[in-house]
Amino acid sequence: MNTKVSTTEKLTALLNDVREARDSFLGYPVSKDFNYEPLYEFLQYPINNLGDPFESSTYKVQTHEIEREVVDFFAKLFRANPKDYWGYVTNGGSESNLYGLYIAREMFPKAMVYYSESTHYSVKKNIHLLNIPSIVIRSQENGEIDYTDLEETLKFNRHKPAIVLTTHGTTMKEAKDDVSRVKSILRKLAIHDHYIHCDAALAGSYGAFATPRVPFDFVDGADSISISGHKFIGSPIPAGVIVTKRSLRDRVSKGISYIGSLDTTITGSRNGHSPLFLWYAIQKMGVEGLRARYEHSLEVAEYCKHELLKLGINAWTNPGSITVVLPKMPSEIKDKWQLATEENITHIICMPNVTKAQIDAFISDVEQVLPMQAELEEPAYY
Ligand SMILES: *Cc1c(COP(=O)(O)O)cnc(C)c1O
Repeated sequence: MNTKVSTTEKLTALLNDVREARDSFLGYPVSKDFNYEPLYEFLQYPINNLGDPFESSTYKVQTHEIEREVVDFFAKLFRANPKDYWGYVTNGGSESNLYGLYIAREMFPKAMVYYSESTHYSVKKNIHLLNIPSIVIRSQENGEIDYTDLEETLKFNRHKPAIVLTTHGTTMKEAKDDVSRVKSILRKLAIHDHYIHCDAALAGSYGAFATPRVPFDFVDGADSISISGHKFIGSPIPAGVIVTKRSLRDRVSKGISYIGSLDTTITGSRNGHSPLFLWYAIQKMGVEGLRARYEHSLEVAEYCKHELLKLGINAWTNPGSITVVLPKMPSEIKDKWQLATEENITHIICMPNVTKAQIDAFISDVEQVLPMQAELEEPAYY
């Protein structure tokens, strides 16, 4: 048996499947419009960013300097104090959230965590891993945290330090919790021992450009912010960034002589290629390029919403969001366009690679199943 041929055949078939799947999805927040060809050569090296990117280490096949530049870029975008920030490139938004909660717990071991019903599933697991007591806060209809419920719940527990996990762009409706409002509730209740982690997986990369801008960054009151790198920026390998304050990191750092560095990150060995991809993308785009990507997405989202409304489908967006929320679709549409569905809604996420032509193709598919859609639609959820 010639195994070589079958390996090649298998790879070719797999490549075709992956390509085909990539070309028809509108339901997940993943950019596909990247070209990292100039970096391919780096795949031939065992790059490992083990240790703290801001400290020297014994292992030199690494991209720490590039990684620091990625952190610098986001720290600036999130208006961190230039003299007091720190961060690293993680394996994704989930690890970034774990890190934010980890630092928060180290600061306030007796704290309670508050997060809304619309919070990403990774957060519940992280809270469980860290064994922190928590309370779920109601969400408003648009997916944003219910500030009244938050205030009342905090008031009831005001003798305990508070960790509030806010979301800047919830998974289904891309709702954004107002960090300054959360901060002022904490102040009003005189809860001095508090920590705010902002999960900005998708929308953190463009939150600074939105008008009106929903408060979410360090100036607004966040203590740490996480994003996913493979979402709005785009990367062949899932990646994320966590940005926090250097002074907070110092509380969890331990020197490890074996690696000649500080053990401040969740994993030991760390992906050294991901920082390269993110760095290359932000070098190419710059802040203005990122803004242009956002504006394009916003325009396509508005277009998509209006086309759906024209068909009599109840589509809507949160202000400044690139996610169009609509009633759930029949399975042919859901499967073909890979639409994530929860309860009775689904969404189209207008990532930078999504074009009006793709929206037109989607709309024409929807038009054909309209009679079925009428049966599916449940009465007045929105
Ligand atoms: C995607 C997402 C996450 C998880 O990020 P990964 O990069 O998939 O680990 C966390 N929170 C929100 C709001 C997300 O959209």
